[in-house]
Amino acid sequence: MKILLFGATGTIADSVFKIVKKNRDRLRVVAATCNSNYTKLEKLKREFNIKKIAINESKSADKYKARYGKNKNLYVGINNFSKLITKDIDIIILAISGLSPLNLSYEIVKSGKTVGLANKECIISIGPSLISLAKKNKTKIIPLDSEHNSVFRLLESNSNQFKSITITASGGPFFNTKKNLNNVTPKQALKHPVWKMGKKISVDSATMMNKALEIIEAKYLFNLNNDQISAIIHPESIIHASLNFYDNSSISLLSKPDMKIPIAYLFKLNYNQLNFNDIFHQLDKQSLTFHKISQKKFPAIKLVYKVLDIGGLAPHIFNYNNELLVDQFLQKKIKFTDIVKYNEITLKKFFKSNKNVNKPNLKDIHNCSIWINKNIFLGKI
Ligand code: NDP
Ligand code: MG
Repeated sequence: MKILLFGATGTIADSVFKIVKKNRDRLRVVAATCNSNYTKLEKLKREFNIKKIAINESKSADKYKARYGKNKNLYVGINNFSKLITKDIDIIILAISGLSPLNLSYEIVKSGKTVGLANKECIISIGPSLISLAKKNKTKIIPLDSEHNSVFRLLESNSNQFKSITITASGGPFFNTKKNLNNVTPKQALKHPVWKMGKKISVDSATMMNKALEIIEAKYLFNLNNDQISAIIHPESIIHASLNFYDNSSISLLSKPDMKIPIAYLFKLNYNQLNFNDIFHQLDKQSLTFHKISQKKFPAIKLVYKVLDIGGLAPHIFNYNNELLVDQFLQKKIKFTDIVKYNEITLKKFFKSNKNVNKPNLKDIHNCSIWINKNIFLGKI
């Protein structure tokens, strides 16, 4: 099976390669990309015999050429990444973080291939358009985000009509912190208790923006009403989601918090005979606890339902604004608690300007991003 891996130098990709390593004769990464980490990409290229590679940043691509020589199978710039989507590819995995692969995500859903979707930001900003394009082109989207992968699997084995879904949150590094979160540092925010993840999603988990964004992701992926999705804190991260039925019974899938599980599921759907020896840990019997999310401590969870009620461009503003604000926080230019606070201020400003669009297309999203870049609230400087 031939795999095209977008975002091959990230943490999701590390899990992909762990499975590929055990199944070299059956799973082959034939094309892979990075933003700037060309040394890691080259290492992977050699280790896994990857035929085609692509680097987004041109300076990094120049350094690559200077160090390893010219390569006719090297593509430069994210606008050229779609050239890697060729006929022979069986599975595409989108594991680039953030909104940079927005245009690319359109090319991916048009491909008619099986897509393992780790990136959540593109679906959140323009989900309805991507989903309908995927349907039209018979592209099969398998969500890799653990909660959504869990819902996907539960739905496959339960055709009974369900009433709602619940997704779980580990609570992040500050679930047990009693004091005010104003002075939290990037280092503290990046220390996730359960998952090892990239920087952006780690900060999102600390603010609970990740769960807020996942509520939008679930709405679009599974075509749900706003009141059909809720979130709850479950620090052990053994249950990732539940389907709830008319009689208030629920079903869940229990698994270790391990991103190799959704990735293995994606591969297994397409290829039965794979070697998973020593890849997964035993799921021990342990107590499971659940806690209501405090909206005072984590205002993102309250804000997301307002965002969903407004609809149109609101999810994109919430999402893109957050990406920019997380970056400001990591650069120590704004406080941790400002991330959600400032996001709400920019959202209000946008809606006062009457610029919302009901069913945004790609151009609306790009115009809205330009507006956000100009109008983002970063506090009084
Ligand atoms: P990482 O930050 O670890 O990796 C991101 C990858 O994307 C790297 O290969 C990076 O290249 C590449 N990249 C970043 N920016 C660009 C750009 N502008 N152009 C081209 N390539 C780019 O992220 P994760 O692996 O943690 O997450 C990837 C996605 O999966 C995110 O959308 C995240 O929300 C989602 N996800 C992650 C989970 C996890 O456990 N990590 C769980 C659920 C969802 P380089 O290394 O060169 O910078
Ligand atoms: Mg998740």
